[in-house]
Amino acid sequence: MPEKVLIIGSGPAGITAAIYAARADLDPLMIEGFQRGGQLMLTTDVENYPGFPDGIMGPELMEQFRKQAERFGTRIISSDVTRVDFSSRPFKVWVDEDLYESDSIIISTGASARWLDVPGEEKLRGYGVSACATCDGFFFRDKEIAVVGGGDSAMEEALFLTKFASKVTIIHRRDEFRASKIMANRALEHPKIEVIWNTVVEEILGDTGVTGLRLRDRVKDSVSELPVEGVFMAIGHDPNTAVFAGQVETDEAGYILTGDNSVTSVDGVFAAGDVVDKVYRQAITAAGMGCRAAIDAERWLESQHG
Ligand code: NAP
Repeated sequence: MPEKVLIIGSGPAGITAAIYAARADLDPLMIEGFQRGGQLMLTTDVENYPGFPDGIMGPELMEQFRKQAERFGTRIISSDVTRVDFSSRPFKVWVDEDLYESDSIIISTGASARWLDVPGEEKLRGYGVSACATCDGFFFRDKEIAVVGGGDSAMEEALFLTKFASKVTIIHRRDEFRASKIMANRALEHPKIEVIWNTVVEEILGDTGVTGLRLRDRVKDSVSELPVEGVFMAIGHDPNTAVFAGQVETDEAGYILTGDNSVTSVDGVFAAGDVVDKVYRQAITAAGMGCRAAIDAERWLESQHG
């Protein structure tokens, strides 16, 4: 027997979909991915998720989410989906050689941090180059480090890193931040944070660990070196849709296209969260989208049997 609902991904969207689908008696199967819990696993304090007036750590919030999904009987597989075939029903989803079939699918695979793609970056990833301050900040106690980007993530990372680093330099390619005023001001006012404006990183220097950055000032068109022992990328995200290529319609950046609700280009395949949404990208909006996707899937399944 095929599953009724198979959920791919386990961030706020996927887990909320699982809670709703389980409570609608659809006995959902969730393939949570190796990086379970999504991007909140890589954050520190979540201060804007309603219901937690004192804030909550991202990983703790996701652990609570997961427990709630399990409480209503969600079955969870802790692997990555390696292939899908949505060309006929039941839909087919593979984890390596294991095949799962389902009448409906909810895609909630989220998005991943973007990298600069400059010389030195790949070689030094894990040796001073990171996209996760929460994971790696601890290693930079009393060291000088840099954060690349001008959005809320860059501010958040920079502020978090001041707990460890002796100095944090934010490198931004323009002369104003994209970040919200409150976050930008917190960073600008912090005594340990400096900002280098209108500047891009051209190379990450170092052999076995980061020793510095080669920077280009885009206004003066001049090159300089900044000695740092670590650099954190906070330059946005890309949707995790490679495995769905050619199966559902996406926009040019790879975000899954949905209609007014969570319906994708394939009847019976729904999508929710950051894999769809490049505008809001909040835990609460992803959770809301997951709820919608589960309700859409439930109604669609009913319409198939009616
Ligand atoms: P973002 O808002 O898209 O900002 C990305 C930043 O990186 C921009 O400043 C961009 O520069 C820069 N950038 C992009 N590509 C670059 C490249 N190749 N080289 C150099 N710089 C590059 O992404 P985000 O900061 O990850 O935030 C995403 C969403 O999550 C936003 O909606 C944000 O509000 C939300 N968020 C909220 C919180 C919070 O409320 N606590 C925390 C984190 C994130 P330009 O400005 O020139 O485009």
